[in-house]
Amino acid sequence: MNDAKITKISLAERKATFKEVSCGFDEDNALREAKRCLQCKTAPCLKGCPAGIDVKEFIRLIAGKDHAGAIAKIKESNSLPAVCGRVCPQEEQCQLACVLNKKGCPIKIGYLERFAADWELTAGIKYKTENKNNPSSLIPALPAGRHHPSSIKIAIIGAGPAGLTCAADLAKAGFDVHLFEALHKPGGVLIYGIPEFRLPKIIIQNESRYIQNLGVNLYTDYVIGRTKTIDDLRKEGFRAFFIGVGAGSPKFLNIPGENANNVYSANEFLTRVNLMKAYKFPQYDTPVKIGKKVAIFGAGNVAFDCARCSLRLGVEDVRIIYRRTRTEMPARAEEIENAEQEGISFDLLTSPREILADENKNVTGVRCIRNELGEPDSSGRRSPVPVAGSEFIRELDTVVIAIGTNANPLLISTIPGLKLNKKGYIEINENLQSSIPDIFSGGDIVNGSATVISAIQQARAAAGAIKKYLSGK
Ligand code: FAD
Ligand code: SF4
Ligand code: SF4
Repeated sequence: MNDAKITKISLAERKATFKEVSCGFDEDNALREAKRCLQCKTAPCLKGCPAGIDVKEFIRLIAGKDHAGAIAKIKESNSLPAVCGRVCPQEEQCQLACVLNKKGCPIKIGYLERFAADWELTAGIKYKTENKNNPSSLIPALPAGRHHPSSIKIAIIGAGPAGLTCAADLAKAGFDVHLFEALHKPGGVLIYGIPEFRLPKIIIQNESRYIQNLGVNLYTDYVIGRTKTIDDLRKEGFRAFFIGVGAGSPKFLNIPGENANNVYSANEFLTRVNLMKAYKFPQYDTPVKIGKKVAIFGAGNVAFDCARCSLRLGVEDVRIIYRRTRTEMPARAEEIENAEQEGISFDLLTSPREILADENKNVTGVRCIRNELGEPDSSGRRSPVPVAGSEFIRELDTVVIAIGTNANPLLISTIPGLKLNKKGYIEINENLQSSIPDIFSGGDIVNGSATVISAIQQARAAAGAIKKYLSGK
């Protein structure tokens, strides 16, 4: 059997537009890939999915051309399948566990999940219209209108993947769920951080709408800790809370020159480009000032997103400056490969020491030092050791700092008695419960910057724990 193929848009289009790069599977290729699945008795892929999707079964349904059944099966466990199919680090999760991985050709589970989710958004609508009078057909769970919520009110704070998932699970269980989001759109990092060319906004809008259709009441432009406090909500009758506010405060290197003009934090840069649509300026109001030579400090997904956005904004020379080697880069392998194809250069084993600026405080370059790899550090990766006398200057006009984030204290500082860990993240027990019994939490505000799927996993566990907590009351 021929290998199933995934096409990408052309390199020329990739450099000039924000269009999604990967086209995913068409039906022929999805069927070919699904039929490659061995339907193993033990199905180790199942344990590889933190959201608990019945991987083996949804693949069987796709292979039998029952795409409606496949998406319904996926949505029993994951309310954000089109998102996860695109950005989940599947090569380290379900696909790592797939038995065919031993032969170096695991089933492309993420792409199949994406296929089923995208099918629902296109062909699925036609299917549902044609099959609405056929009770035997498996129609995907896209409920219209609200269920009949119980009178128990639950507040979810933050509409990122954690908040959306927790809200969906509790709404499915029949609770009266209210989801509060500080920004003007739901999605969290999915909407303001991850660019259109990896995750189109329409995908998040559709999946958020699905969650609202489950009966979740969404309030945008609503900052808990400012607009209202948790205590205000308690007085209004809310009986439990889930905090999923992410870790949106940027980290800096604390090197000289970081306050020069044209030095951005990744958060600001990506929010301007993605959420405020700077790439469509002057159609939209928010410009992003960018020069001809841009360096991104860091090598995670965030850094690569900044680099690839810069390229699409017309920058001629985009480089990643990273203190370790390519092997240690935390970004997804697929995205590193995409960036390389697009012409992004890497300064590896290099650390910035000082950002240089002219008399008007505009960036002119960065003084760097070369490293070699030493002993492994607490992350298990070999640590960079500066090489004496190896300093050099890289000329630049724009710098984006993408070295991670911290917890934002805005909400948590308004909750007396809430225990935080040493790094300022919310401390939880094995039931995802904080030091305050009616407050549960999950996602980046607990883990620090992590992954969409880890946020989903914790949110699902927290929803289960909230149900138990409320049933004991
Ligand atoms: P968030 O997504 O940060 O959502 C938190 C939400 O809470 C936000 O909408 C915020 O506005 C809202 N909020 C904050 N404070 C308040 C308040 N006081 N009141 C109301 N609302 C509030 N992970 C992957 O798995 N794969 C990837 O490819 C990937 N790429 C990434 C690229 C970028 C650029 C970034 C920044 C992250 C990436 N990640 C990726 C990480 C992933 O997106 C996060 O781990 C995940 O979004 C965390 O989910 P969350 O719901 O905990 O937080
Ligand atoms: Fe794999 Fe992620 Fe989908 Fe789970 S959610 S099946 S881990 S791609
Ligand atoms: Fe199919 Fe791989 Fe799961 Fe086996 S482990 S059932 S081959 S996806």
